[in-house]
Amino acid sequence: MPRPPLTDAQKDVLRARLANARAAKALLPPKPKGPRVPRSKATPATTPVVAAVAPPYAVWTESQWLTSHVDLCKQRLALLKSDFETGAKIVGQRGDSNDPRSYSCFVCANPVAEVNPSGRGPGWVWKHDYLNTRTGLYESVVICNQHCHTVYVNDTRLQLKLKDLIRGEVSAPEAAA
Ligand SMILES: [Zn+2]
Repeated sequence: MPRPPLTDAQKDVLRARLANARAAKALLPPKPKGPRVPRSKATPATTPVVAAVAPPYAVWTESQWLTSHVDLCKQRLALLKSDFETGAKIVGQRGDSNDPRSYSCFVCANPVAEVNPSGRGPGWVWKHDYLNTRTGLYESVVICNQHCHTVYVNDTRLQLKLKDLIRGEVSAPEAAA
């Protein structure tokens, strides 16, 4: 039996579904296409950081969040959350994620040695670990020596700056040492 012709409302539903399916596809990383043309030698091997964080995610506009099918919105939210959590977990386990060799003093901004010059203990007198809720990664604040610590204790602006930095913290496994 032939189907009755679609009403305009039904056509709109189909059009919306197609648009939503395209939007969902835009979330996925692009598939490699056929045999690749080898890069020219002039192209640097490393990808610039900025380029790495842009695609494949196309940021949705408020209107897309408002008008897309609610199931698609939920699907997209779940996908983004899962990707965020996977990324935070894996990047958090990387050795270069919160590398003590990259620490600098919260007060004087000088690089802080991983190990005290005496060979015993860490190169800082104070350390605070906090969860950066923006990235889902643990980060550390360190103060290099007793002098900087005294400056910090007597400077409420610095204390507020630290509070702002760690706002939303969930734990501080090794606070003041
Ligand atoms: Zn310092």
